[in-house]
Amino acid sequence: MTRAARAAGLAATLALTGCALFTPPFDIQGHRGARGLAPENTLAGFKRALDAGVSTLELDIGVTRDGVVVIHHDESLNPDTTRDARGAWLTAPTPRLFDLTWLELQAYDVGRLRPGSNYAARYPAQVGRDGEPIPSLAQLFAWVQAAGHDRVRFNIETKLTPARPGDTAGAAAMTAALLAVIHAHGMQRRVTIQSFDWRTLALVQADAPGIPTAYLSAERPGFNTIDRDGLWTAGRKRADFASVPAMVHAAGGAIWSPHFEDLTPELLRAAHALGLKVIPWTVNDPADMRRLIAWGVDGIISDRPDLLRTALEQAGH
Ligand code: MG
Repeated sequence: MTRAARAAGLAATLALTGCALFTPPFDIQGHRGARGLAPENTLAGFKRALDAGVSTLELDIGVTRDGVVVIHHDESLNPDTTRDARGAWLTAPTPRLFDLTWLELQAYDVGRLRPGSNYAARYPAQVGRDGEPIPSLAQLFAWVQAAGHDRVRFNIETKLTPARPGDTAGAAAMTAALLAVIHAHGMQRRVTIQSFDWRTLALVQADAPGIPTAYLSAERPGFNTIDRDGLWTAGRKRADFASVPAMVHAAGGAIWSPHFEDLTPELLRAAHALGLKVIPWTVNDPADMRRLIAWGVDGIISDRPDLLRTALEQAGH
C-alpha cells in the first residue's frame, strides 16, 4: 500500500471517529547541521540545528588515515573554511582527510568562512565560531546522548567518488568503519545512511538491513550522477528503468533524495507509488519550500531549518 493510500485510509477512519486529519510527521533535516546559520559539520553547528528544531541532523563522513570516522563534506580540507594551528587560511592543494591522522586533523579550525570568499557570500547569515575542530562521528553521538537529545535522527552521507578511488577510504572500508561507530553507540535505530555512491548503500543493506538507505541523485548540468553509465549507481543504467525512483526501488532503497530542481509532482507520485519516501536537497528559498511541502514531500534537507519550520507552520503542519 502506498503512503498516500495509507494516509487516505487512516483519514477515513479518523473522520468516522470525529478526529482531525492525521498528518505524518515531516522530516526537517538540517543540512551539515545548519550551514546557513552556523559552521557546517561542527558540534557548534549541530547544536544550532537542534536549537532550530530539526528532526534530523544531515552530515557527511570521511575516514582518516588511522581509521577514524570524521564529519566533513570534502575529501580534502576546504581552503574556504579551514585555518591551520597558527590561524592561517589554507591554500590549495590542501591535504586529503585520508592522508591525515585523527590527531593531525585536530590541529585545523573549521569554525569560520574565509572572509571575502564566494563561499562566505553564499551564507551571509552564518555566524562563525573560532576554534571549532572537525569532529568525529563518535564525538557527535556522545555529545547528543550526554545532552539528552534522545529523539533526533542522523542522516549520514558517505563521501567518496567512484572515479577517484584513491582519494578516500574504499566503499567497503568506509561502510564498515561507519557501521562500527553506529553499533558501538547503539544508534542503529536512529540513523539513515545516504550516498550518491550507491555501492555503499548496497553494503549497508547487506550488513545492517535494519538501517534505512537514502539514494541521492543529481541530474544537473555540472553534476549528473544518473547519466554516467552506472558509475555512481552501482552499475544500474538509467536506460534500463522507467524513472530514477524505479532505479532506487530496484536497488532496495527506502528513500529517494533528488536535487530539488530534478523533482516533479509526477516523479513524486511515482516514488510514493513504489513505497519510497522522498526527501529532496538542498532547499533554502522559502518559496521552494512551500511548493515542495504542498506537493507532499516527506521531508526537506535545508541549510536554513529555521525558515523551513516557518514554512511548515504556514502550511499548517
Ligand atoms: Mg551531505
